[in-house]
Parts: sequence; structure tokens; C-alpha cells
Amino acid sequence: MFQFDNSYARLPQGFFARVAPTPAPAPELLALNAELAAELGLDAGWLGSDEGVAVLAGNALPEGAEPIAQAYAGHQFGGFVPQLGDGRAVLLGEVRAPGGRFDIQLKGAGQTPFSRRGDGRAWVGPVLREYLVSEFMAAMGVPTTRALAAVATGETVYRESGLPGAVLTRIAASHIRVGTFQYFAVRDDKAALQALTDHVIARHYPDADGPLALLEQVVARQAETIAAWMALGFIHGVMNTDNMAISGETIDYGPCAFMDAYHPATVFSSIDRQGRYAWANQPQIAVWNLAQFATCLIPLMGEEEAAVEAATEAVHRFAPLYQAAWLRRFGEKLGIEGAPNRPLIERLLTMMAEQRADFTRTFRGLTEGTARDEFTDRAAFDAWAADWHALSPDMGLMARTNPRRIPRNHRIEQAIQAAVTGDLAPFRRLNEALVHPFEARAAWDELSNAPLVQEIVHQTFC
Ligand code: AMP
Ligand code: MG
Ligand code: MG
Repeated sequence: MFQFDNSYARLPQGFFARVAPTPAPAPELLALNAELAAELGLDAGWLGSDEGVAVLAGNALPEGAEPIAQAYAGHQFGGFVPQLGDGRAVLLGEVRAPGGRFDIQLKGAGQTPFSRRGDGRAWVGPVLREYLVSEFMAAMGVPTTRALAAVATGETVYRESGLPGAVLTRIAASHIRVGTFQYFAVRDDKAALQALTDHVIARHYPDADGPLALLEQVVARQAETIAAWMALGFIHGVMNTDNMAISGETIDYGPCAFMDAYHPATVFSSIDRQGRYAWANQPQIAVWNLAQFATCLIPLMGEEEAAVEAATEAVHRFAPLYQAAWLRRFGEKLGIEGAPNRPLIERLLTMMAEQRADFTRTFRGLTEGTARDEFTDRAAFDAWAADWHALSPDMGLMARTNPRRIPRNHRIEQAIQAAVTGDLAPFRRLNEALVHPFEARAAWDELSNAPLVQEIVHQTFC
């Protein structure tokens, strides 16, 4: 069924622990991504069968799987933790598909040697949240891990109360993180760092001729990814170094959220008390994380003083690359290609923040003639709109750039609440609407609405 070729499991011993997923008592398929299965060369019919669900629940190992938990370290909210690792995820193996090599990982599949005090499990809420959000990101062309399936385990998971357990099958170009490099760097294991670097170059950056070129390319990919987040009003929520993928994919949808009303200081994550990972801070945090990555690579870069200088310069390249990507994306959101007018974009954003305009509805509304409704000071909006119209914006470009809908927190919460009571219809409807973010359908209209006051979700949890 799976054509496994497990390159990570061939790396030296210290890179991972061999561990099988813990079986689930009563697996039940909640969601299966047939389109993604096809892209991966997998048979969706089989995946949805009892045999397939047993694999997705961790109850059966497919032929060729070599289950492992990966070791990594990481800075969590700025504080370094020398050993984290997959505490509740098991990598079954890697498959080759036309689009490249992909990890197949079961998240929530039980304890591993890296679980520390954790139970190794996930409950259905975060699993469905990750499914909805990561598949929306993919539909929007944002580099991201994917969701192949969600399976209920039939087990109760204890958080603030007893909740139904679930496993997410996550697909990624790889699960190698900045924290994976930090794990070996803090142990002064230069041989392992070299092996990891060679592995990552071969796997993700084949035209990089060494650690400096690798760093430069990772910086460039992250600049694009973060700009893509910003253009959607996305707040990752836990940009710890262990949650920054070397591939440039968005990874670890824990307490992430999309803004409704626009404000640059927006934070949802219940664990982000200082607002370290607020929307507007994300590019700076990316630079901070990339500086940690650069620090890991310096020992591989030859003479130290020159290496530090080159690595510093490579990290400093983030700012201009990010600024260019930001300008291109926000320019496109306003229908302007080529040389967009930054002050015009900033004027709109400032007005949106002051008047708490809905981020998604404002940008989409510019093509539909409804953006004005998002503002209380209509005269200010009209003055801005006159200057904008003078640039002859390309409405077609805007309609292809600004989604009609995003995974709004209140809708995700409603879908989760229903799923907990056994009703998956709201989840399925939301998922379908979100993987077609530009499509107009009367039945989906209400999904574009901002939350009513009583529906607003102020905090998200991981
Ligand atoms: P995260 O905040 O999701 O990036 O997770 C940080 C670390 O905690 C990672 O090493 C996870 O594997 C681990 N972790 C999170 N939740 C659990 C859990 N329920 N059981 C065991 N480990 C966990
Ligand atoms: Mg994580
Ligand atoms: Mg997480």
C-alpha cells in the first residue's frame, strides 16, 4: 500500500527513538482527505476501509513502516529546552510521490521516550482544528503540512475535563525543525550536525552547496511563508524554534488563529501571555528563530570569525526578502502588481486597525463594493478609496488573491462542539467551504460573516 523509503530512519541512532504507535481501543474514521491521498499515490478507498483505519489509528503497522519518534530541542517562548522531541507523534515513514518525498506521521498516537509528563494523546478538538486550518492553508497555496486523516480513538483524553481522543495523520515534506539542529548543537555533536545538514540539503535544498547556502535558502523560504501568513491575518501562536520547519512549511497548528477584526497586536493563544507571538511580531520572531538556526550551522562553516559574519549576513537577508514578499502580497490584495504603493497599503491597514475593520471582509469587500461597510468613518474610507481607484486596481487579481472565507475561530469552535456530540456535519461543511476559499455558494455565504459579539472567541488553546 505505502511505498516506504525511510531516509530519516537510516540516520544515526541518536536522531530518533524506535517506537510503535499505541493502539486505540475503538478507532472510527472522522475525516479522510481523498484528494491528498491521490496526490500521495495512496488508495483512499483502502485508507477508509477497516484495514486502512487501523493503520491511521496506530493499531496496525503497514508493510515497510519503521515507526520512530524524532529527537529535537527548542526555544519555547525564548527559553531553551535541550530535549523535547516527538512526545505524541510517531513517524511511520516516508513515501515518494510525484510531488516529492513526504513524511507520514500519526499525531496523538501515544507516548514515546520524549513524552516527559505528557500522555502522548490529542483530543478531537485540536485534531479537527489542524485538519481545517492546514487544508485551508494548502488551498491558499501557503507552504504547510497537510492533513490526510482524522480518526477518533474511542479513548478519553483528560485535559481540563475528559474529552474524546483522536489521531491526526499529518503529511509533511519533513518534520525537521530548527530545534532538530539545536538538539545536536547543544550537545556539541558536530558529526550529527553534519549528517543532518547533508540530509536536509539532499532532501529539501539540493542546489545548496553547503551550510551557508542552506541557511540562505531557508531564510528565503521562511520570508515567503511568513509573508503569506501576514496576508491572511494568520497568527501561528507558538513560533517556538521547535515549531519552525526547515522545509519552510507551516507546522504545528496548536493555538493558531485568524484575525476577525484587524489589529496588529492580536494574540489568541492562551499560553502567549506576553504577546511574544502576536501577529505583527511574527517576522521578527522568524528572524530570531533563524538566528538560532544560523548559530547551529556556524561550527560547520569553517573559520569562526568569517563564519559568524557570513551567517549574520544571511540572517539579515530575511528583512529585505520579507519586505518584498509583503509588498507583493499586499499589493496583489489591492489589485496592484509591479510596484505597489506601500503608504497606500499602510494607510488602509492603519484605518482598519483604528476602526477594527474585519481583515478578510475588508479585502474581499474591495472587489465586491462592500468594504466601506467595515468602517465607521466612511469619509476616511472614501478618501482612501479614491486614491486607490486612481491606480486602476485589477479586480480579477484581487478576486484570486483575497479569499471569501477563512477558518474563523467561532466556526471552528462550533464544528468541534458538534463533533464532540457526534455530529460531523458542521466540520465537513466547513472543511468543504474552506478548501474552496474563492468559490461563491449561497449555502456558504454565512461562513464569510464575522462573529456576532456573543460568538467571538478570545482565546485559543493547544
Ligand atoms: P508543541 O507546543 O505542540 O510544539 O509541543 C511541545 C512539546 O511538547 C513537543 O515535544 C511535543 O511532542 C510535546 N507534547 C505536547 N503535547 C503532548 C502530549 N499530550 N503528550 C506528550 N508530549 C506532548
Ligand atoms: Mg510542536
Ligand atoms: Mg503542538
